[in-house]
Amino acid sequence: MRRIVRGVLWVVKGVLLAIALGALVVWPWSYEHSNCLSASRLTRMIDRDEYQDIQIAWKDGRIGVMADRAGFSGPARGNVGPEVIDQNAGWETEFEPENTSFAVSPLEHSLGPLFWGFLHSGDAYHWEHHRIASIPCWLLALIAAAWPLISLALHYRRRARRRHLARVGCCTKCGYDLRATPRPGGDLLTRCPECGTPTVLATPS
Ligand SMILES: [Zn+2]
Repeated sequence: MRRIVRGVLWVVKGVLLAIALGALVVWPWSYEHSNCLSASRLTRMIDRDEYQDIQIAWKDGRIGVMADRAGFSGPARGNVGPEVIDQNAGWETEFEPENTSFAVSPLEHSLGPLFWGFLHSGDAYHWEHHRIASIPCWLLALIAAAWPLISLALHYRRRARRRHLARVGCCTKCGYDLRATPRPGGDLLTRCPECGTPTVLATPS
């Protein structure tokens, strides 16, 4: 069970590292290009149409997520826009080479370099909800990479400590001196009398 949990944690750390790398690649790119990855769907129902989209966009060193929902009923039906996507076709994903709707200016809420905002508008026949949040690319990379990099460093430090203990003839778990004789290079106890861990022989490095 512990092995499974540890495996899952390493997968999560791998995903976070990939996100950090992606943010680092996008960072310089975003000053020249503003792109957008989007997933959208239009659902036609008996009494109304509903449009939803989720976008990941970047511009001028910032990366953001936007989630929009809009509903159209009565006389507003069919006003979804010129780029009407297939109705009831489920989610459609798209890479947009030119993104125009991602604003990098501070939004209604901010916490240092983090911006987020909500916008609701509409009337009886047409409503729209916009949610947007953005973060500088470098900060996203820093946050995403922190935990995986720290745990990698700790992992290698623990491994180096275990190797050192094995080399000097000590228990790799608790550090107990396993030398059975004061003679250098002499026999070691086969098992730690302190914690019961079987003796790990030093691997020549
Ligand atoms: Zn021990």
